[in-house]
Amino acid sequence: MFRSVEYYAGDPILGLMDKFSADPNPNKVNLGIGIYYDEEGVLPVLDCVKTAEERIADPISARPYLPMAGLPGHRSACQNLLFGKNAQVLTDGRVATIATLGGSGALKVGAEFIHQWFPQSKYYVSDPTWSNHIAIFEGCDVEVGTYPYYDKASSSIKFDEMIGFFETLNKQDIVLLHPCCHNPTGMDLTKAQWDKVLEVIKQRELIPFMDIAYQGFGEDMDSDAYAIRKAVDMDLILFVSNSYSKNLSLYGERVGGLSVVCPTVEETERVFGQLNFIVRRIYTSPPSHGGRVVDIVMNDDALYQQWVSEVYGMRDRIKAMRLKLKSVLESKLPERSFDYITRQNGMFSFTGLTVEQIEQLQTEFGIYMVSNSRMCVAGLNVNNIDYVANAMVKVLKD
Ligand code: PMP
Repeated sequence: MFRSVEYYAGDPILGLMDKFSADPNPNKVNLGIGIYYDEEGVLPVLDCVKTAEERIADPISARPYLPMAGLPGHRSACQNLLFGKNAQVLTDGRVATIATLGGSGALKVGAEFIHQWFPQSKYYVSDPTWSNHIAIFEGCDVEVGTYPYYDKASSSIKFDEMIGFFETLNKQDIVLLHPCCHNPTGMDLTKAQWDKVLEVIKQRELIPFMDIAYQGFGEDMDSDAYAIRKAVDMDLILFVSNSYSKNLSLYGERVGGLSVVCPTVEETERVFGQLNFIVRRIYTSPPSHGGRVVDIVMNDDALYQQWVSEVYGMRDRIKAMRLKLKSVLESKLPERSFDYITRQNGMFSFTGLTVEQIEQLQTEFGIYMVSNSRMCVAGLNVNNIDYVANAMVKVLKD
């Protein structure tokens, strides 16, 4: 009956997590999956989230179905964070936003929408990108291509090639962009580069799909949304998927959002209706718990401020780890440059290590990173950083 069903080899990043858990090495370090661990190597529960949880728990309340689009307070929280509180585009009513099951859920609903309403459009992702940017869209029968982005040899962005490539695309082709903290390279465009990219997008009438999973981990909440807000100022239509997994440390609650910026209120209503219809056909409505946490934290001034400072605390700790890693590596291997480590933003560093070197780190030291050489810097802490740096020195010298 099921003999024709193909085996699933598993996801390389999630598989690495299982391998790490099974490793008996007492010094093992998990730098694979994109999860923020604190200075003690523990997955934090943010204080603002603890307060929200207490409010949800007292009194314990009934759990009705949520609307298909999720809680209104979750949706407005996404809008305010992405576009800025009281942004004109919001008061104009030109953004259709639904709460989604994490950033992945937002990408899925967005991909379904594009498959149905833009069937001629081809969709392009940066080379390289987070693998699910490809898998989710392919899973919705959208044709996927790549655009030039990162040059491994110089650890920099191939900006001219990227622009040149965008200039060859067709009207209504979709380009997936990372507004901040590019996954996996950590290399972001400057504001001037964003202006240029968006200019070409406008000229060619392309459709930007911006996926923001690390808002607050780059520069700050507003600067990290620069590309989104600039695209709105330029009157572009725009898809935005956002995730609260990392910045609220709510990975397992599956909270995020999908927003579509439309030219008119009337089109916004149509789009909003179709997004609801897609949700209805897949899972009817999102779970309520995480949505309530988002609603409470983001719509209470004091909790919101507390949240922002907690995110900046995580951001600053990662930046400190970057500096420390760079300085240890440079002191031990002065002939090499490790400049790239502090030029990159967010949780990841693209180390440029070879597959063999990554394998050696795993087998000899119990240090796990993704085979494309992506290291999750948020897995480093004062207790393991020297161990990791010394192991990197060893494999680079061998
Ligand atoms: N986009 C990017 C760039 C990501 O790195 C991730 C998470 N790794 C997601 C989307 C998905 O986020 P979530 O875990 O909320 O589904």
